[in-house]
Amino acid sequence: MDYDVKGNLHEVLGSLPAGVSLVAISKFHPNEFIEAAYAEGQRIFGESHEQELAKKVASLPKDIQWHFIGHLQSNKVKYIAPYISMIESVDSLKLLKEINRQAAKHDRVVKVLLELHIAEEDTKSGLSLDACREILEAGEWREMPHVQICGLMMMASNTDDEQQIASEFDEAAQFFDEVKAKYFADDDAFCERSWGMSHDYHIAVKHGSTMVRVGTTIFGPRIY
Ligand SMILES: *Cc1c(COP(=O)(O)O)cnc(C)c1O
Repeated sequence: MDYDVKGNLHEVLGSLPAGVSLVAISKFHPNEFIEAAYAEGQRIFGESHEQELAKKVASLPKDIQWHFIGHLQSNKVKYIAPYISMIESVDSLKLLKEINRQAAKHDRVVKVLLELHIAEEDTKSGLSLDACREILEAGEWREMPHVQICGLMMMASNTDDEQQIASEFDEAAQFFDEVKAKYFADDDAFCERSWGMSHDYHIAVKHGSTMVRVGTTIFGPRIY
């Protein structure tokens, strides 16, 4: 392995404040990279493609907690429902319902985050703040015993403007407070603010993040 996964992992972990957890984003990286991080105690890994994830799940330790972070089509939910620990990228009511339906078949409760679209780019998926408000207000999610909504996920704009990135994280944090107070005040499980990637996690942890998703800084550049 020509990449110092062990050293990089410890550097990232060492820079996270208490209470912030690390999702090691292993998409497009081989098993030996994941095993190197696993050997150092890392247990939460994130993937964005269902087929790649299925292969890794079959051949890696069973106590890994897999997070799904990519755009998820409803018809793919059935493949990951048996084992996925958290789906961070819920961007529609339709998807939420399908996760509930498939998790029920396996008698599981799947943790989910609602993904917000706050960044400037049109290409990033996620719910507008209003669309997210609508889903929560409609209340159908209260009748879904096989999903547990644990918080929010978002990506900031891909820019070098650190002030803009910080203000997008602040916007997400404010929105978190709004929906926490309105819908989840008595629900301790609704506590996660998943923001911050390799280039901006050091900003994210100063702006409300409880969970960072870091790939490149730990595993190096992805080879597609
Ligand atoms: C790939 C990915 C990451 C990790 O990005 P890095 O820049 O490699 O840290 C984080 N979040 C999501 C949603 C991703 O797709």
